[in-house]
Amino acid sequence: MRPSPLQDVLPRPKNPLFSFIIPAYAEEKNIATFLMALKDALDHLSIRYEIITIDDGSPDNTAKFMRETAQKIPMKCVLFSRNFGKEQALTAGLKYASGDAAILMDADFQHPFQTIEEFINHWRQGYDIIYGIRVDRGHDGYLRRSFTYVFYKLLNWIAKIPIEPNAGDFRLLDRKTIDALNTLPERTRFMKGLYAWVGFNSIGIPFDVVERQAGQSSYSLTKLSNLAAIGLTSFSTLPLRIAMLVGLLTSCVALSYGSWIVLRALLFGVDLPGWSTLVAAVLFLGGIQLIAMGILGEYISHIFTEVKRRPHYIVSEVYDSLESTSQRSHA
Ligand code: UDP
Ligand code: MG
Repeated sequence: MRPSPLQDVLPRPKNPLFSFIIPAYAEEKNIATFLMALKDALDHLSIRYEIITIDDGSPDNTAKFMRETAQKIPMKCVLFSRNFGKEQALTAGLKYASGDAAILMDADFQHPFQTIEEFINHWRQGYDIIYGIRVDRGHDGYLRRSFTYVFYKLLNWIAKIPIEPNAGDFRLLDRKTIDALNTLPERTRFMKGLYAWVGFNSIGIPFDVVERQAGQSSYSLTKLSNLAAIGLTSFSTLPLRIAMLVGLLTSCVALSYGSWIVLRALLFGVDLPGWSTLVAAVLFLGGIQLIAMGILGEYISHIFTEVKRRPHYIVSEVYDSLESTSQRSHA
């Protein structure tokens, strides 16, 4: 994130095209009404736009309703072969986007249409990334809010790049930023970190999170913890360093204590008490070793996923209502 004085920015194109990217998973109750409402809101703004919606392998009728809506309004539907996760759905959306800028929005009405105009105005002023800052996370529940708070504190502490805690995926990305994100090959993706990593002029715009219209959040605490682990280990190797430092520190303590025991035995003769100290030390060291191995394992699992070089996602079908074609393809 580089809040910058906006001198020397190239003028924006005269009649820009905006790509709206909408990932959807199990949104059968929202998707059709959302896409229609989005179209209405965009028509009012009098802008040139394209809508790209990604069905992330929903187990319900999301894809069916998407296709039906695509017969009423011009849009592109990208259907995944299974659920690959929101990060991959957004990645696909950015690959398919052909606009001068892209706007990422959730399909559950949580991101208000009114903010779009503000995003676009800031883009015209020269900002390359305009992200929404959630003013009130009241809908999230206490546990999730606390979890998110601790996670971002930890992430900002260990990662070299500052990541805005209350910003999510609701944002506008300029073509430069989209191209930069499209060059990043990693499979274990934490988009919020990647937006920050690519840099560029960024600005946050506060917005009120709206209550989810229907259905429920796909992010359980387990799913959030997975994403958190990816986020923490994708942007820094500091956890490995900390594990090494803790190892060094305990070795120093163990060495001093060992020397003291030897010295005491030499000076005062051998005695046997100290069993409980021994057990405590063994357990403590065992614990530290397991934690260190866990941290190491997390990084190795990233390497494992990356070296396989599998595609980020598999597309089973692309439906483009403008071309009125449906292609079965792989990405
Ligand atoms: N989503 C997705 N793939 C998933 C989970 C979610 O594409 O595996 C989409 C979902 O349909 C919605 C957006 O990502 O459009 C945000 O998801 P959700 O509302 O469940 O998350 P929350 O708003 O609670 O963070
Ligand atoms: Mg939501």
